[in-house]
Amino acid sequence: MKKTREQVLTDLRGLFGESRVITEENAVMNYDGDNNVYAKAFGAFLSPLPMCILNVCSTGEVAKALVYCNENGVGVIPRTGSSSYELLLTAVDGDCIVIDASGMKEIIKIDYDNMMATCQCGVPLIALEELLQAQGYTTGHSPQSQPLAQMGGLVATRSIGQFSTYYGGIEDLLCGLEAVLPDGKVVRIRNVPRRAAGPDLRHLFLGCEGALAFVTEVTVKIFRYYPEDMWLGGYVMKSFGEGLEACREIITAGYKPSVVRLYDKPDFDYNFGSIELNEGEAFMFFTAEGPGEVARAVGSGIDRIARERGGRYVGTEAVAHWLKHRNDRCAIFGTEKRREGYRQKKTFYATTEISASWTDIQEIYKNVMERLPREIDNLTVFGGHVSHSYQNGTNIYFVYEFKVFSPEAYLGEHRRIIDAICDEVLKLPTGSCVHHHSMGKMRLHLAEREHGNSYELIRSLKEMMDPNGIMNPGALVAKK
Ligand SMILES: Cc1cc2nc3c(=O)[nH]c(=O)nc-3n(C[C@H](O)[C@H](O)[C@H](O)COP(=O)(O)OP(=O)(O)OC[C@H]3O[C@@H](n4cnc5c(N)ncnc54)[C@H](O)[C@@H]3O)c2cc1C
Repeated sequence: MKKTREQVLTDLRGLFGESRVITEENAVMNYDGDNNVYAKAFGAFLSPLPMCILNVCSTGEVAKALVYCNENGVGVIPRTGSSSYELLLTAVDGDCIVIDASGMKEIIKIDYDNMMATCQCGVPLIALEELLQAQGYTTGHSPQSQPLAQMGGLVATRSIGQFSTYYGGIEDLLCGLEAVLPDGKVVRIRNVPRRAAGPDLRHLFLGCEGALAFVTEVTVKIFRYYPEDMWLGGYVMKSFGEGLEACREIITAGYKPSVVRLYDKPDFDYNFGSIELNEGEAFMFFTAEGPGEVARAVGSGIDRIARERGGRYVGTEAVAHWLKHRNDRCAIFGTEKRREGYRQKKTFYATTEISASWTDIQEIYKNVMERLPREIDNLTVFGGHVSHSYQNGTNIYFVYEFKVFSPEAYLGEHRRIIDAICDEVLKLPTGSCVHHHSMGKMRLHLAEREHGNSYELIRSLKEMMDPNGIMNPGALVAKK
């Protein structure tokens, strides 16, 4: 027979001790920085609440908690930094608990000979990065949420950093890991440089959204860091489309900048505005890293192509400004200041990140920019930027702010925008409607369109790894 909330809480207190089981209303309502963030500013709360937050301190405790939840049909939302979007941490009903592993914050080993760092899942990325930089090394992983995110969540969301064109996304950085399966079994993927022993099992955990297993330990690559040799360059392009062409040319010619960014005017003016752009113009900028000779050579190739493609060189100041302020948004995430901003302006700002081949992305940008203002009449800001580029394509972050009609309706209004963008993306053969934030519960209804007939494999994976469906119910596949 299904246990009541009170029975579950009593059992957990018995297993872990009173102080580890948090039921205080304010803590439970705010365990998820993204969930209902606008509505909460107005005192409205629209989602079911988990029964409690359970704080765990070791792999053994994670295993003990999962065994209990699996045997008793209690849902589990794994949490580390709580910086995710897309309702990843949001409960779909009240039959679940949050397991918070942010207390697992030991940096276990830094192996400078083999260029790897091993951490517990609750290590803040910023803590690892600061430790490494002090020794002349870097993780190379620098999402905008670097001051907030932790190692387990970074793996579980398939995160990507701002310097990804040089260092790669987390999928390129992850060497191996330890994870706990829903039945409590602890599995380990060893840190080999490469293997061809069947499918790559790391990918069961990369982007698992906490819906397949609980990641408890992570080993990532580290790199030598040469900040003093970083090359910077900024260019004004006549249009966003011409900027895209220039980025394509630079990447496919074989240059490997660390940052490749291209902003249209509305996005740049809203987020930075550190140089003047005329109507229709775009701001494109790059950094190149590595040992000085490499960074300079890459920089000189970028500069030649950017100018050949009509770029007007505007120096390094605006790039330096971006480097300095690129993570400022984190300072207000989850704070009263952010809520006060909502109450004052009654607008909501968000982003939707997608990707496509170099040719399809041109069409997507054009179609989305035409469609949104036609369909959504309460947009107050709307634009986009490129921030991660590949040999075969790139991404666009569409950024938008809209006037909110009522706190209760804002989530629905936000969904309309996401759906319109993603609809345009998924019409194109190489379009992906989620570049790095994860599907979460916000875009899950698009999973069939995103994956086509291979979505069946994700359903089978969920069935196989989590037969009782306890892990992050409603993520990756709909809750049964
Ligand atoms: C201002 C801001 C900027 C951002 N910029 C970027 C960016 O540049 N690039 C980017 O990729 N993302 C970005 N994000 C999104 C977010 O920071 C990332 O998704 C990050 O990886 C989440 O890590 P976290 O530790 O906060 O995870 P959480 O928010 O705690 O959890 C995220 C997901 O992972 C699961 N999870 C957490 N820990 C574990 C675990 N130990 N085992 C299994 N599952 C787990 C959770 O259940 C949830 O589904 C940004 C967010 C903010 C607020």
